[in-house]
Amino acid sequence: MDEEINNSPILIVDDDAALLQALPQVVDLRMKNVQVETTDSAQHALERVKEFDFDAIISDIKMPGMDGIELLAHIRELRPDTPVLLITGHGDHGLAIQAIRGGAYDYILKPIDRDAFVNALQRAIQTRQLRRKVTEQQLALSLHAKSLERLVEKRTSELVSANATKDKFLDIVSQELKSPLSNLKGMTQLMLHQLERGDATTAVHQGLVDMERSITRTEVLVQDLLDTSLMETNLFVLHRKRYNLVDLCRELLDAYTTRAVLSLNCELLGDPIVVDIDKDRFSQVLINLLSNARKFSKKGSPITITLQQSGYEVIVSVQDTGIGIPEEYLPNIFEQFFRVPDVRIQSGNRPGLGLGLFIARKIVERHGGHIEVQTVLGQGSVFSVVLPVYVDPTVINQSDPPPSLHTQAVWTITH
Ligand code: ADP
Repeated sequence: MDEEINNSPILIVDDDAALLQALPQVVDLRMKNVQVETTDSAQHALERVKEFDFDAIISDIKMPGMDGIELLAHIRELRPDTPVLLITGHGDHGLAIQAIRGGAYDYILKPIDRDAFVNALQRAIQTRQLRRKVTEQQLALSLHAKSLERLVEKRTSELVSANATKDKFLDIVSQELKSPLSNLKGMTQLMLHQLERGDATTAVHQGLVDMERSITRTEVLVQDLLDTSLMETNLFVLHRKRYNLVDLCRELLDAYTTRAVLSLNCELLGDPIVVDIDKDRFSQVLINLLSNARKFSKKGSPITITLQQSGYEVIVSVQDTGIGIPEEYLPNIFEQFFRVPDVRIQSGNRPGLGLGLFIARKIVERHGGHIEVQTVLGQGSVFSVVLPVYVDPTVINQSDPPPSLHTQAVWTITH
C-alpha cells in the first residue's frame, strides 16, 4: 500500500543535456509517484548510489570517462538489487548484449520510443519493489525463526529444570517415606517376636506409641505432598466462614497445647477481629509455625503468639527464641522443598520435606494476605501472617481514619 503513495526515486545518468531534460518530462507526464533525479556524470551517479537506494537507474552507455557498462558493474557491486536500464544507440547490438551480460535489467534503444521507455521503467520499479518486499519478508521470517528458536530453547531448559525438580522431588519423597516405613516394619517385627515370647505388654505398648508416631509422620508427609499438588494444579479450594480471630486463635491454641501437653498462658485478650477465612487451612498455617518454632528452639523456651490489628489488616505472629535463620536463606524460606542446610533440630524431631512454609505461604496468599519473617541468628525468629480484616461495607464510614496499630491478644506457650 505504502509503495503506491510513496514516490519511487529514480536516477537518470546521461551526458546529453537534451535527453537529460526530456526524459524527466516524459516520466512526469506519463507516470505517477516517480521522483526523478538527474546527473550528467557517471562519477557523480556513483556517489549518489552509495548514499541513496534508488528504485531504478537509467544510464546512457556511451559517456566520456566512465561509460555505462563500467557504471553498471559498480552499481551491481554496491546495490545488486537495484535494476539498471542502459540506453544504447540504434543498431548497437553488441553493446546491448554486453549490457545484459553485465547484469543490466533491460536496454532502451535510441531514438527513444516513449512508450517502450515508460514500460521498461515501470517494470524495473515494480521489480525493485517486489525484491524489497521479498527481502523484508525474509527478514521477518528469519526474525520469527530466531524467536521460535529462542522459545524452543527456553521451553527445553524449563523442561530440563522441571525434570530435575521432579527427580529431586522423587528422591526426597522416597527418602522421607523410607524412614517411617522401615521404622514401622521394625517395630512390627519386634512386637511379633515379643508376643511369641509371651513378655509383651510393656514392649507392645511402647511399640504402639512409636508406630503411631511413624504413622503420623507419614500422614503429614503425604498430606503436604497432596496440598502441594493441589496448589500446583490450582485445585486448592478454600471454605471460608466469618470468625472472630481472637476466639479462633484461643480455641486452636487450647487444642494444640492440650494435644501436645504444653502449658499455655493468655497474657491479654482484647476486642474481636473479624475475618473471612478457612478455619482448617488457617489452623494448618498456625500449627506449622508453632511446630517449627518448637523444632528450632530449646525445650523450655517460650513461644509467643500475638494478634495485632493495623488498619484493615490483622497480623498473627509466632515468635520463638531459637536458632534463627541465616540471612542468605531468607529469600528461599517460603519456596518448595527448601530446608536450611545442616541445621540443628531439637531432639525427637526430624527435618520435614521443606513444604510446610511453602504451603503456609500459598494458603495465606489465597486468603488475600502474605507471610513474612524476621530473624536474628542465634536469637530467634518471628513469622507474621498478615490477613485482611472483614469490613462490613454498610457499617464502615469512609471518612473515618483506618484503625491504628494495636495489640488485641497475646499468648505464651512454654514447650
Ligand atoms: P518442613 O515442612 O520441612 O518443616 P518448612 O517449610 O516448614 O519445612 O521450613 C523450611 C526450613 O525453614 C526448615 O527446614 C528450617 O531450616 C527453616 N525454619 C522454619 N521455621 C524456622 C524457625 N522458626 N526457626 C529456624 N528455622 C526455621
